[in-house]
Amino acid sequence: AQPAALVTALFHLGEMVTATQSVNEDTLQLLGAEIGWNIEVVSPEDEDRELLETFDLTFGDEGDEEDWETRPPVVTVMGHVDHGKTKLLDAVRNTNVVAREAGGITQHIGAYQIATELDGQERAITFIDTPGHESFTAMRARGAKVTDIVVLVVAADDGVMPQTVEALNHAQAAEVPIVVAVNKVDKEGANPAKIRQQLTEYGLVAEEYGGDTMFVDVSAVTRQGLDDLLAAILLTADAALDLRANTEMDAQGVVIDAKLDRGRGPVATVLVQRGTLRVGDSLVAGDAFGRVRSLLDEHGAKLKEATPARPVQVVGLTSVPRAGDTFLVVEEDRVARQIADRRQARIRNAQNASMRKRISLEDLDAALKENRQLNLIIKGDNSGTVEALEDALMKIEVSDDVSLRVIHRGVGAISKSDIDLALADDVIVIGFNVRAEGQATELANREGVDVRYYSVLYSAIEEIEAALKGMLKPEF
Ligand code: GDP
Repeated sequence: AQPAALVTALFHLGEMVTATQSVNEDTLQLLGAEIGWNIEVVSPEDEDRELLETFDLTFGDEGDEEDWETRPPVVTVMGHVDHGKTKLLDAVRNTNVVAREAGGITQHIGAYQIATELDGQERAITFIDTPGHESFTAMRARGAKVTDIVVLVVAADDGVMPQTVEALNHAQAAEVPIVVAVNKVDKEGANPAKIRQQLTEYGLVAEEYGGDTMFVDVSAVTRQGLDDLLAAILLTADAALDLRANTEMDAQGVVIDAKLDRGRGPVATVLVQRGTLRVGDSLVAGDAFGRVRSLLDEHGAKLKEATPARPVQVVGLTSVPRAGDTFLVVEEDRVARQIADRRQARIRNAQNASMRKRISLEDLDAALKENRQLNLIIKGDNSGTVEALEDALMKIEVSDDVSLRVIHRGVGAISKSDIDLALADDVIVIGFNVRAEGQATELANREGVDVRYYSVLYSAIEEIEAALKGMLKPEF
């Protein structure tokens, strides 16, 4: 129906709306009755659930409790910039003696698992290898609950900073237990007691102060305290969480990272959440599908199977899924393809809908005269960074007069078809850690398309912010 007609129909129902305003479900149903339709509002999650149900599949069902086994905790490291998240992740990665014996070079695949000992027992811990709360939040926003425990890194020579607070807010909102790593205790001027003191204000009270949060003094440089940190993670998991998962069923889980590899094609790092993933399995991950050709761990070693909490690289998909997509193993290739096709169609529809201008009727005239919308196309080297960048950009505060929209995003070099898409006013093409293909560069130069390259999140955000400000015309 035409927006104007719908607005009129709603007006008869006593509702004042504009052509782009969202209306609630009740109103929609009334509207349906008015025009003789039966309207049902379906959320994307419900729609996906229904889609899976048509194939007799459910995502997230743990199945029979007798098939449950203890699984390792999954940890995300968060904290203020420069407090040592990356360094700590590197230090922990190198505690893995087993890995060193295997001789493989550790690759950054988005997550890794280490083995440690607690009370004479061999235990494993999985670390998500992208520090910071951006990917944590992006994943949660997409419904993927991956993290069991947050390690909050605070530099002992600095103290609680804005991103420390932001990170702990995210963790607390998600009800994920926190272990505090008081880092850089090797440095002069380190004051670990001050950190404990400061964090009590945010409800994180150290055990030694009578609270229930474990604080561990560490140095990512001297490696002091690393074993204690690992122990604290396991003790916190044992005390607060019942980490068990079904190991018998077809595997399900989440895509942590994905990229297009020159030699191997689409490669996705997935975290198995339940079930056992095996070579030869047919799987669908978001709108990508394929059959598992090989499974590789973080050392590049081939695995036959992956059990819950095991991060593993999957080779064999026909396209690149997005970080945060869920995956599940299905009976046969045909089913995987059908589910992927249906999801692709839905994504296309949603993109088309969001590209249609959202303007109120009143603004229509003004908006037609002046298009004050900045459109972006984001290409990056992996889906995690693309999403982190998109998220950060969408958080830029803009005035009502201008708006920012991501009209397309993807993994890989900027292609000619990206530039084609950009051949409209006010489109900026962003290459994050990727360049444009030759033909694309030619076309962009010829048509005057604004293509910008970044490798640092901050500079991208700053420049886009500046571009938006530039669009604000002076008021008279
Ligand atoms: P991130 O931004 O939180 O990931 O921080 P980085 O891991 O990049 O660390 C920031 C800086 O602090 C780097 O120069 C590190 O070498 C340094 N650093 C990290 N951990 C320690 C530590 O335990 N002791 C000392 N002395 N320096 C550290």
